[in-house]
Amino acid sequence: MWTRHVSGKLAAYADGELTPRAAQQVELHLARCPRCRREQAEVRFGLAMMERLPSIEAPDTIWAAIDANPADRRQAVMSAGRPWRLAFAAAVLVAVAGAAIWRVAQPSEAQWEVHRIEGRPAVAGRVVSGAGQVGIGEWIETDAGSRATVAIGAIGSVEVGRNTRVRVVATRPEEHRLALDRGQIHATISAPPKLFFVDTASGTAVDLGCEYALSTDEDGSGLLQVTRGWVSFQWNGLESLVPAGASCQTRPRMGPGLPYFDDATDAMKQALAIFGREKVDRGALDVILAESRVRDTLTLWHLLSRVEASERARVYDRMAALTPVPAGVSREKALELDAATLTRWREELAWTW
Ligand SMILES: [Zn+2]
Repeated sequence: MWTRHVSGKLAAYADGELTPRAAQQVELHLARCPRCRREQAEVRFGLAMMERLPSIEAPDTIWAAIDANPADRRQAVMSAGRPWRLAFAAAVLVAVAGAAIWRVAQPSEAQWEVHRIEGRPAVAGRVVSGAGQVGIGEWIETDAGSRATVAIGAIGSVEVGRNTRVRVVATRPEEHRLALDRGQIHATISAPPKLFFVDTASGTAVDLGCEYALSTDEDGSGLLQVTRGWVSFQWNGLESLVPAGASCQTRPRMGPGLPYFDDATDAMKQALAIFGREKVDRGALDVILAESRVRDTLTLWHLLSRVEASERARVYDRMAALTPVPAGVSREKALELDAATLTRWREELAWTW
């Protein structure tokens, strides 16, 4: 099913040397491909090991222009030593087997730390004046003048905004989960995909390695805004994939709306809001198609499977007019919503997202 495994890009990705767009593409692939995720864990492990052992076997030339300052030394290993680092990572990749490395490296924590930012945030009904702990099943609550930060185990942090109610559901290494009852959180996560989840009344935000803001009310009306990486918002078999720079409205009993780039035209955003409320609004569909740019194939790709079959050909034709349809994607299969075809197309389109 996968035509482009990303094995060859993983070391450069771990080193932060890919362009943001290429990095996004790798992240999307990783989120969907267990094979590449296993390899990524091995590459990370290799690089992490190497950074702990910076003086072993490094070629002498690396140290030539470096004084004794440890920070400078580390910097030099990061830059000058890259080929050596990658060779080491490749060697570890061969030597290390198994997919559970990340879990071994990240010990379980039953309690997470909470820090007050302002006001009087409360955990389980008790005001946190400086720092406190929150455990499974406990609520973090803020009022109109309070904010707090929660450490999400070892993988990141969540800022709890004002007037927010959020509960800790799971703190396992393979499942860090919050339930957002109402209000707003800002999550910054640095971990392999699918370790951090936020449940809301209209679906679940699944972290694919990212930074995002999520707001919701008790009904599930809300907004997801992604600033780095990807988030998958899921509800009842429906999924919206939201990359950096894009947002997605969520709605009670309808789940995630169509994702759209924040720099889309106002006319397109208004049409998307209407389209979400009244599914068969042809006028709104006309505007969405007419206003779409190449990167708005993000929206159109999701739209393909959410319009009636009678409208689907129009969406396909607009996409095909905006950007060449790749080999392996046929009109017929796309209109049938053949899963492999849509995946293949998305992989190509995502280069423009
Ligand atoms: Zn792969």
